[in-house]
Amino acid sequence: STAKLTDIDTRSEVTFEDVAGLKEAKVEVMEVVDFLKNPSEYTRLGAKIPKGILLYGPPGTGKTLLAKAVAGEARVPFFSLSGSEFVEMFVGVGASRVRDLFKKAKEKAPSIIFIDEIDAVGRSRDKGNALQSNDERENTLNQMLAELDGFGPNTGVIVLAATNRVETLDKALLRAGRFDRHIYLELPTKEERIQIFRVHLKPLKLDDDVDVELLAALTPGFSGADIANICNEAALYAARHKKNMISQNDFAQARDRIVGGLERKSKIISPKE
Ligand code: ATP
Repeated sequence: STAKLTDIDTRSEVTFEDVAGLKEAKVEVMEVVDFLKNPSEYTRLGAKIPKGILLYGPPGTGKTLLAKAVAGEARVPFFSLSGSEFVEMFVGVGASRVRDLFKKAKEKAPSIIFIDEIDAVGRSRDKGNALQSNDERENTLNQMLAELDGFGPNTGVIVLAATNRVETLDKALLRAGRFDRHIYLELPTKEERIQIFRVHLKPLKLDDDVDVELLAALTPGFSGADIANICNEAALYAARHKKNMISQNDFAQARDRIVGGLERKSKIISPKE
């Protein structure tokens, strides 16, 4: 089904409060919120508002979340599409989807377009995978470039794109007037993991022994997505054991399960426990 490919005119409920850590990235995207809310403040001085902004960094660091928060904070429609969904498309479909998306976003301007996994469409032409039909991907990429060039800088549409692999992107995408602003999202520090844990612990029923500092200390290298995952796994684990509250031990079990992978998973859920 192609229905899920383009989320037509969705309102985002995400705000900056939902995004923990990422202090510098948040400061940068706050400016984008201001562009969307008060464009005349910029245009009256002859400034051109940036059209394309690239969010890059490791998986699960909150790129999608941050893009949704920009739309939520600015209260503008959020149109999204994922580059990876184009890969298996029939000839001409990818390009026409891109054309459609930009058309709709312009009609609803001010608005945000979010392109997740842009590297699937926009990776450098000479690094292409020979097994894949590159024609369709290139058509889609060319359409994307044409759309970016085709609207004025002050149309009220801002395109955010996300990638884990900025170095593989076609340089044409990064040229001035296209994705010429880059915002890096890092894996969280221990302090930031505490803040991310706080966001994801909030809706949970916790035992008194849950120690957020300890949770952060036990999860070096975890992304925000990993932390969201461990919190939910702990809740599932506690529920499976018919507990009324989630304890520190449930988080330890959840952590082991995530770190240990599938082999350990089967042990943890064994009926012996
Ligand atoms: P990918 O590169 O794998 O697409 P991503 O960088 O787009 O990942 P998201 O999809 O935004 O990551 O993150 C997945 C989920 O992880 C979010 O919906 C949220 O629940 C949680 N998460 C990630 N980063 C943060 C953060 N900084 N604060 C709070 N929650 C976070």
